[in-house]
Amino acid sequence: MLSVVVAGVTGRTGRAVAQAVSDAADLRLVGAVAPHHAGRRLGSVLGLEPAELVISASVDEALERAPADVLVDFTVPSAARENALAALARGCRPVVGTTGLSADDLAAIDAKARELGLAAVVAPNFSLGGLLLERLAREAARILPMVEIVELHHLHKKDQPSGTAARLARRLGEAGAREPVPIHSVRLPGLVAHHEVIFGGTGEVLAIRHDTTSREAFTPGVLVAVRSVARQAPGLVTDIWPLVAPE
Ligand code: NAP
Repeated sequence: MLSVVVAGVTGRTGRAVAQAVSDAADLRLVGAVAPHHAGRRLGSVLGLEPAELVISASVDEALERAPADVLVDFTVPSAARENALAALARGCRPVVGTTGLSADDLAAIDAKARELGLAAVVAPNFSLGGLLLERLAREAARILPMVEIVELHHLHKKDQPSGTAARLARRLGEAGAREPVPIHSVRLPGLVAHHEVIFGGTGEVLAIRHDTTSREAFTPGVLVAVRSVARQAPGLVTDIWPLVAPE
């Protein structure tokens, strides 16, 4: 049984992940982190099991209370790096979904993970459709190099462009798209998370679109990463496709 701490447990995504961990027979939710709800019980704040679990102010505090195999982080960009480093320092492998981390943040997590001989997953999109969008769009970019990305999100999203769009642009460039691949950002009420990749050809247009309609979309991919991170080579893992669809 793998033990898991969820940081950002009171957030829109962290809550869905905590529910999925709590529901999984092979996983045990042993820690929950949310600085503005520290000291309160998971059951009273979120109605989740284990109801008596006390919410911690930090990852370090949660791991002091109960060691864990994996930390899942859906917090804020300013906290995710320190959360991942604190987990690694305690031998706990991080699976980070928080977006907006800098190249410097990623390098620091990679260095610490290698030093300690542990893997750390950091991926901007854990949804299965989001991963497929990248695969399909990379294929299309080889043939139709004139491409632009539109990313549409709810009003509370803190980073712009989205981590998914930034990664998509980079990966499409590697696949042969004209660079830089333009990214257009939309922030409106009613939206969740949506990415459209539009290819222009001679007298034709191809659009590939992925819509996330609920936070549960991210949980299957997160659980795959939680279950497989211990089998990955030490260092940073940013491509989770091989974890989701092993050869
Ligand atoms: P959210 O609803 O705003 O929740 C943020 C959570 O972070 C809350 O639980 C909050 O706790 C906690 N938090 C705030 N400041 C913190 C700090 N300094 N240290 C530790 N925890 C802190 O956010 P969300 O919409 O779920 O998104 C969270 C992140 O995940 C964003 O970066 C988003 O882009 C990303 N995301 C990624 C994916 C993916 O597939 N990779 C999918 C969805 C979202 P309090 O309630 O106590 O303030």
